Amino acid sequence: MQIINAGAEMNLIADQWRRAGHAVGLVPTMGCLHAGHLSLVKLARAAADKIILSVFVNPTQFGPNEDFKQYPRNFERDAALCRDAGVDAVFHPAPPESMYAADHSVWVREDRMSRGLCGASRPGHFTGVLTVVAKLFNITRADVAVFGQKDAQQARLIRRMARDLHCAARIMIAPIVREPDGLAMSSRNAYLAPAERRDALCLMRALQLARRLYREGERDAGRICRSMVEQIQQTPSARIDYAEIVDEATLEPVETMERPILIALAVRIGQTRLIDNLLLPDDRLCNLPPAAQP
Ligand code: AMP
Repeated sequence: MQIINAGAEMNLIADQWRRAGHAVGLVPTMGCLHAGHLSLVKLARAAADKIILSVFVNPTQFGPNEDFKQYPRNFERDAALCRDAGVDAVFHPAPPESMYAADHSVWVREDRMSRGLCGASRPGHFTGVLTVVAKLFNITRADVAVFGQKDAQQARLIRRMARDLHCAARIMIAPIVREPDGLAMSSRNAYLAPAERRDALCLMRALQLARRLYREGERDAGRICRSMVEQIQQTPSARIDYAEIVDEATLEPVETMERPILIALAVRIGQTRLIDNLLLPDDRLCNLPPAAQP
């Protein structure tokens, strides 16, 4: 496995692979890898011959009061996990400034699907994400790129960018990987104190409640949202950032749940902002466990 710091070198190696007839797969990450990230590698492996995993804590997707500085970093451990997972190259841009010229002035901005959900509570976040992913696409010219359903809005925005900017990469979306108790895996779970770790299950439980109500025939999005909010509010440390039901394809809010929809939650547990989501009626990508019997 190669570890590559320079974009130009990464570009050259990926080019050699392609000339040799290999399909190149890309898995972009911010490091601090867990089983969720490794499941993306596995999916990429099934679709491509050479796998590049990028590790880059992208400064432009963090707001001024967000956790860019504290974001967990452990490159040695990440590299070892990548080696075990059969990654061919880890792209670890260094120094970090090499990804952004001091006077950089070009951004990729999406104007429709990025307005709601995390886009509303994290202004500029998705411009940072799309810009860095466009850079990674240009550096690697990947044939396939894999993103997680965990970040449902992000994955759909990247699909939209790939379509609208004619990116060569085919975008694949991988199912949410969860801890045994159902908490969606996230590098930010490391911030949670033990009591907060227990409280964090309120997101999953609210989604389970929404799924139960839906399966019982409820189709009124407002009523399901209110039930989720009431349930989350029973956890005193939880502060809801948003709880919304949107059209799965357009991410526009819906009133009735007649088409495929996405239920998306962002909740702060103490200082830690967590997200989770559920697709209905086909919830396979979300791996939400069955609700415990009362
Ligand atoms: P991050 O390092 O958090 O930026 O995530 C890198 C990629 O891994 C993104 O495409 C995420 O959606 C994906 N990812 C993060 N957590 C999970 C998870 N629990 N299950 C599946 N994919 C995930």
